[in-house]
Amino acid sequence: MIYAFLAILGLVFGSFYLVVATRLPEEKSIIKPGSHCDNCNHALKWYELIPVLSYILQKGKCRSCGAKIPFLTVIIEIITGIIFVLPYYLYGLDYKFFAAVIILSLTIIIFISDFKYYIINDSPLFTAIIFILILKLYFFNYKVMIHSAVSGLIMFGLFLLIKFLGDRIFKKESLGGGDIKLAILLGVALNLKLGLAAFILSAFIAFPYALFVSIFKKEGIVPYGPFIIAALVIVFMFESQTLQLVNDLFYL
Ligand SMILES: [Zn+2]
Repeated sequence: MIYAFLAILGLVFGSFYLVVATRLPEEKSIIKPGSHCDNCNHALKWYELIPVLSYILQKGKCRSCGAKIPFLTVIIEIITGIIFVLPYYLYGLDYKFFAAVIILSLTIIIFISDFKYYIINDSPLFTAIIFILILKLYFFNYKVMIHSAVSGLIMFGLFLLIKFLGDRIFKKESLGGGDIKLAILLGVALNLKLGLAAFILSAFIAFPYALFVSIFKKEGIVPYGPFIIAALVIVFMFESQTLQLVNDLFYL
């Protein structure tokens, strides 16, 4: 029963994340106008707003003008459904469940907006940071929360320093403003040691993609945000293993 509830909740949130990820970078309101067809501006009725189901019933087309609805919208709704269900299966209704849902939700939004628009918007990012801090206070205590907040600020400072040095060495923007703000989440969600581990991991994951872009694409822009948050997710999911690995590597 709770699985079905979480899955439906996830599908609904998936539609919402899609709106957030595509409207914020274009500086549009996420509330007004309501959902509409991007082609003919036809305002969607409630029965055209049911995640996945509406898409199937309308055979992937706008009811008014027949324009194709991107299949990606359904994929994102389904993925969001999964990210509400899977953490519950793994962790139960614990801190890890709520934190995972928040981090994975932000991951979806950042993947869409950073790959598509090269932008990481402040409001979803800072909403996630604040929610994680509230969770730490609720499930642990205020000391844990403050420790995480300070870790976030230190990570922020560190990324700022890396950017400063990187810009000088490479003579172009090395880390974007969004990447630096994302460092706060790394520190808040993982604390210092694991946050640093995630940062190193992100460089390893980004490297093949950066190589690919520099060879095959003309613009050569590599959004770094998706790799930072992907690394954050991996370290978050494998926290104890990463900690073990870090300890083995540095305290032999
Ligand atoms: Zn239409």
